[in-house]
Amino acid sequence: MSDYYTREGSSLRNARKRKRRRQLMIRRIAVGAFVILLVALIVLLAVYLFKGKGDGGQTQASQDAQTAEAQSTEPVIDGTDEPGTQEIPSSLDADQIAKAKVLAAQYDYDGAIALLQSQSGYENDAAAKALVDEFTAASAACVQVDMTQVPHVFFHTLIVDFDRCFASYHNKSLMNGYNAWMVTIEEFEKCIQQLYDNNYVIINISDIYQKDSSGNYAPNTSVKLPAGKKAVVFSYDDTAYYCQYMDWGMADRMVFDENGDIKCEYTDKNGNTTMGNYDHIPILIDFCREHPDFAWHGHKGTLALTGYNGVFGYRTEYRMFDNATSDEKAWLDANPWCQRSKLDDYIAEAKVMAQALRDNGFEFASHTWGHRHCDQKSLDWLKTDTSWWLERVGSIVGPTDIFVFPHGSDIGGGEDYTSANEKYAYLKSQGFGVFCGVDGVSYYWNQFRSSYIRQSRIDIDGYLMWRQLDGNNTALSKLGLDVNAIFDRRRPTPVTTS
Ligand SMILES: [Zn+2]
Repeated sequence: MSDYYTREGSSLRNARKRKRRRQLMIRRIAVGAFVILLVALIVLLAVYLFKGKGDGGQTQASQDAQTAEAQSTEPVIDGTDEPGTQEIPSSLDADQIAKAKVLAAQYDYDGAIALLQSQSGYENDAAAKALVDEFTAASAACVQVDMTQVPHVFFHTLIVDFDRCFASYHNKSLMNGYNAWMVTIEEFEKCIQQLYDNNYVIINISDIYQKDSSGNYAPNTSVKLPAGKKAVVFSYDDTAYYCQYMDWGMADRMVFDENGDIKCEYTDKNGNTTMGNYDHIPILIDFCREHPDFAWHGHKGTLALTGYNGVFGYRTEYRMFDNATSDEKAWLDANPWCQRSKLDDYIAEAKVMAQALRDNGFEFASHTWGHRHCDQKSLDWLKTDTSWWLERVGSIVGPTDIFVFPHGSDIGGGEDYTSANEKYAYLKSQGFGVFCGVDGVSYYWNQFRSSYIRQSRIDIDGYLMWRQLDGNNTALSKLGLDVNAIFDRRRPTPVTTS
């Protein structure tokens, strides 16, 4: 029993020893675990504190970046801005990069991309490649323009000196005419600003159509613009600076300034001649330099030219000298830029001006040689007049298939032209296939046929502005023009056409 007890006693002691060892081990494990936990907590705390400090630094950096972005219109002087807040520098020629950006602004993305890719070093230039990616994406986002729904606006020569034209006039009938058909420089500038603000983009008449190898016309499908932008055709009537305009406060002629830019000469009421933006052509060139996105591929419109007083203010027509009355001869003789002896010089200068206009995105149309009503005059008159235009104007400005009817005198009604229309058949035989009349009410009126195109034009002038102000529904409001803000209230009113 005792043995048993002893054994039992011995086994009890052993059991107690084992229990103590177990408790000791558990305490050690607990202490160890506590120490590990404590160390882990300290490490976590340290990491947290360190990371928190890092986050604070990043917040400051992003604030700096935002500030830099907000100030990105400021010129970068020291180049120490945070990376990513300015463009990657390019090793390519800065002028070529700038040129590519202008082309892209004019929606000529293909031209901009081709220009960049043609530069030596392009393959290794991250900045140029980023630009190409940007232009490619912008091009892909563009929408095809429906040429059957494009409006067309036109202007006459602008009035430089309001008082000279409307206040101190010397012929009421002529004054009424200028009041009806002209706008002032200020009115023109407001008008193009409003059209630009209304998301219009200028295209040329020749942009609205394409021709196949047989000469058949169809709407052009290759003009694309960003969504929300709208195409509008611009044209300018006459641009001859007729002798009749002298003393009425309008420009004398187009000239080049010392930089080779197209300007106009203007002789004021005191006889002083200066050079400047005295008509729509130089005004629009400067406006589009500032806003290249106003001119699709840089196109700025069509000059509808007559011939009887020459072109662009250059007296290139010998008939005006040879057929002048004695009064007219005296006036011409007294005018330094109306000399029969300088005819060949005028023609040479006008050819240079025509090329400069083409280079600036303008194109040319016939407005007839004599500016007569094509609907009322005979077929024989049209034949003689057209031959004179081709001989005296076409020889200076080059071939064109665009014919702009003077006074909107279309040779047909709204129905299709057919070969039974002799005037149409004759003009077609002389290479003309695009015909423009006038419609001041419709937003657009386009007739696309395989053998010809007709497009009506909206006259932006004193007459249509007055009609709009007088409560009539005109195309001006359909273009989104705020005539109230454009029309010069000093004009004699009502503005009439008689
Ligand atoms: Zn005209």
